[in-house]
This record gives sequence, structure tokens and C-alpha cells, in this order.
Amino acid sequence: MTGLYIHVPFCLRKCPYCDFYSVVFSGEAAEKYTDAVIRNINSWQGKGVSVDTVYFGGGTPSLLTPRQVGRILEAAHKSFSLEQPEITMECNPSSSAYDKLCAYRSVGVNRLSFGVQSADDCQLRTLGRLHNFRQACGAVEDAVKAGFFNISCDIMLGLCNQTVDLLRNSVDKISSLPITHISAYMLKIEENTPYNCEEIKNSVANDEVISDMYLETVEMLESKGFMQYEISNFAKPGFESRHNLKYWQCDEYIGIGPAAHSFFGGQRYMCPDDVSAFAANKWQSKLVTDDAPDKLEEYVMLGLRLTEGITLERLSLLGGAEFAKKANQTANLLQRHGLCRLDDGRIFLTPRGFLLSNTIISRFLQV
Ligand code: SF4
Repeated sequence: MTGLYIHVPFCLRKCPYCDFYSVVFSGEAAEKYTDAVIRNINSWQGKGVSVDTVYFGGGTPSLLTPRQVGRILEAAHKSFSLEQPEITMECNPSSSAYDKLCAYRSVGVNRLSFGVQSADDCQLRTLGRLHNFRQACGAVEDAVKAGFFNISCDIMLGLCNQTVDLLRNSVDKISSLPITHISAYMLKIEENTPYNCEEIKNSVANDEVISDMYLETVEMLESKGFMQYEISNFAKPGFESRHNLKYWQCDEYIGIGPAAHSFFGGQRYMCPDDVSAFAANKWQSKLVTDDAPDKLEEYVMLGLRLTEGITLERLSLLGGAEFAKKANQTANLLQRHGLCRLDDGRIFLTPRGFLLSNTIISRFLQV
């Protein structure tokens, strides 16, 4: 089944580390944007596409009014066969009042993802976030009161002046909230952001400390019942993100909105990052980024991000028996170094292996 991704390109202000596409929010632009999303969703009518996940990502989707979100979901119900959908909305703790959360719930949203990032207010300020930790806790509590039982929070690792102790404190506090899922990302200094400067680079921990932080986070989260299922994602049993799993399991997804990516009909494409053009045109334009992705490469690259890993059987099917045999030898070698495990024909990385995933994936692809 297919996933539907809606990119909501508005934020109240730009966080200095972020390179996702977003512009400053305006009510008028959001209304025009909503109409354009609906036009694009309507263009799928009658094509018989079954969708079982909808994901509002951004940007800050919680800047859309419940009415706008409801109109988008109504259009999705008319254009796709929506089967017991998981409907996720990314929320900023500073724009998630209780009444608004109740209204999102009543229009069909059933999963929330809060960008909490840290339990330390000083670090939240350095990140340029508009919330403090008390507000983030309040937003999660309000979400539970509003009837949400599937809630995710983000945590960031490797922040400026973050020590292992400070991170431990954040992981402990955030994982104690009434939530079912945690995404733990390492801060990446992106080229075209204000964070790309010496002052910031000098205040983040070195690679060795960041590796310790990651391994400690995995251990702490697992001890609190959040089991790792992907490099950066952890869930209580049964609460893995069904939508995000589609990306890693090479399933199809349709992306709508400026800068949204799609994988559909064997092609990867993206919509240009221009909200004015998106709103002004009848249909969003699509740039083909890969019209025939290499199935073996995708399987290895995406599958090794997951704790379920990849199977020798599928490697043999996609790359031939010789490729699978060499991959088996590579896995045996990496297993001796504690970087991966080979179990019943399945190869999967250990947390230490995830830290070196890019190198390991290249190694498998070169066999
Ligand atoms: S709110 Fe999220 S999407 Fe918007 S600028 Fe900050 S990190 Fe980026």
C-alpha cells in the first residue's frame, strides 16, 4: 500500500540549524497552499490507489488550522482508498494548544510527532526553538487528554555544549513522558545554515563523544521499553511509524507540496521547493530524480538502516548467488568486529555498526 506525504512549508521563524524547506508563515499563504494541496490530491481520483498512511511533515504542520487539515483529509478520503490509515502530524510544542489538538483529533489525525529536541532550556534556546521543556511536557499531556495514544518525540544528540550527562538527563526526562515513539537524531551542521560557523563547530562534541552519546541513548531507551527498529528510531512494541517504514522498506509514497519527494510507479521524483509556484499552478510540477532506481542498491542502503536488516535470499534474488555469497563473507568479517550480526540468513547492523553505516553499506555494495 502507498503512503501519502504532505509537506507543509511554513514556520514561525527559521531555526538556525535547519535546512528543510520552509518560509515564514502567513495565514493567506497557508490558505492558498491548502487549496493547492487539495487540487493535487483530487488529481488522483479514480486511479485506484490504496493509501494506509498520511504524514503531515514540515515545516510546522501545526500552523495549519484544524479546518485546513480536515479539508485535506476529506480530499484524501475522496481520492484514495484510505484503509485504516495512520495519520501523523508533526507538531511544534509552541503551536499545539489543547483545543487545537482536540480539533485535529476530531478531523482524523491519530498520531502526533513533537519536535521536543532537548529537556534543557538553555540548549533549546541555542537551537532557536520557540518552546521550553515545560511547554513541551504540557503539549504532550494535552495531546493525551485530547485522546492521542500514539505520540512521538524527537531528541537531538551532539548539541552545542551538550555533555553525556546533559544528554542522559534529556533522554531520561523525554522517555518518561506518556509517549510511544522516540526519534533520536544527531545534529548535522548543514552547509547553508547559520550553524555552519566556527563558533558552533567548536562547541559541539567530537566524534568519539557523539558515538558514546548514541550508544548510551540506544541503551537507555531500550531499558525503558523503546526498542530500536531503525538507526534513529525507537518504539514501544507495535508503535513503529508505519509511514516512515515505507521509506526504508522501498514501498511507494506520494509526496505533495513544495520540496516533497515521491516514489511511485518505479520512479523517484520531487516537487520544486517554491511555495508560490506550488500555489499558483494547477498541478505541482515534478522533477524526476531517478527514473529507474537500482533495486539491489536501494534494498541494501535502506534495509541496513533497519534492525530487521536484509536477507541473503533477497540479495540472491536481486544481485545473484555470487553477490549473496560475497555479502555473506563480508557479514562474517564485520560480525567478528561486532558491527553486524548474521542470523538465520539475515544480516543486520548492531548499534556500533549503525555508527559506521555509510562505510558498511558501501562495503556491501562493492562486494
Ligand atoms: S520549526 Fe522545524 S522545520 Fe521549522 S525551521 Fe525549526 S527545525 Fe526547521
